[in-house]
Amino acid sequence: MPIKLPSFRPRKDAYPPDLWTKCPSCSEMLFNKQLDKADRVCPTCGHHFRLSAGARLDGLLDHGSFRELDAGLQSVDPLGFVDQKPYPDRVAAAQVATGLRDAAVRGIGTIEGRRVSICVMDFGFMGGSMGAVVGEKVTRAAEQALAERIPLIVVSASGGARMQEGTLALMQLAKTCGALERLRAARVPYLSIMSDPTTGGVFASYAVLGDVNLAEPNALIGFAGARVTAGTISQELPPGFQRAEFLFEHGFVDRVVHRRELRHEVARLLRYLVPAPVPGNGGPTESRPAFDPIGFLSSLADRVVQDLGPSEPEPGRTHEPASSRRPESASVREPASAREPASAREPASAREPVRPAARQASDG
Ligand SMILES: [Zn+2]
Repeated sequence: MPIKLPSFRPRKDAYPPDLWTKCPSCSEMLFNKQLDKADRVCPTCGHHFRLSAGARLDGLLDHGSFRELDAGLQSVDPLGFVDQKPYPDRVAAAQVATGLRDAAVRGIGTIEGRRVSICVMDFGFMGGSMGAVVGEKVTRAAEQALAERIPLIVVSASGGARMQEGTLALMQLAKTCGALERLRAARVPYLSIMSDPTTGGVFASYAVLGDVNLAEPNALIGFAGARVTAGTISQELPPGFQRAEFLFEHGFVDRVVHRRELRHEVARLLRYLVPAPVPGNGGPTESRPAFDPIGFLSSLADRVVQDLGPSEPEPGRTHEPASSRRPESASVREPASAREPASAREPASAREPVRPAARQASDG
């Protein structure tokens, strides 16, 4: 009778899933604890794994400085959407799996002592999809940045708009862009960080509107998927299509930054990008007139006229008239109706209690 020997072949599927991770780029088996220590970047090939919102905040902000705001915001099911299972069940399952209420976390923190308004997305929550809550959090982060004149940072990781919320998810594109435009008009800096992946409606709205757009190496960044794009234009796509480096070469991304350098890079940019003070508040740069092409040209013309004309110059004309300074946000005020859907679909209890916290923060 033949003796049956035990097999010593290593079984590749036998690793506990929470102990080892296989690198999708170089197929190296990585010990999870070591991977976490290396900011979830493969030490062999530099592949950037996706980060949870918590790990992202830890990596970017000063230790212990983060204070979460609007934590209670939660998606409702306005459409009664059911695919393979009802939408509320999907949300509940994602909440259990990630410990988050929705796919974005926002709040206030500091980077090298500089106060910032930050919103971070988590791909683990329903693919980081942008529904009403994500859009609202990005918008509120921008509004707080505007109110306090502190920089805004948004870290994107998303497959796009959340289809279960239909057109209400699509509304978030306009809402977030409106808030960012007010921020831009007030000259408050906005840094966008695109991680893997940043696609669909998030790419089509706030992710690429930063004053500086940063991306992590090899991050998938684009609107429609590569296969759809290739099918639409009936052409073979260039190598590296929709990757961070490709977008950098074509001017869509300002800088591709290794995760290890990201915090340092953001801190450096924040030293350059100082928010304009509130008009009339007598800030340190208030005495210097803001650059305005029309005002600049007319004051130049005044000076030329003075030099040419022998007639007596009017006193005070060389100063920029106060009326030529662009009025704050008068041209970019969002119509009130654009905010209505957010308040209509969120229960009053979810929306109202977070307001006092935001006000307190703006006072302090
Ligand atoms: Zn690797």
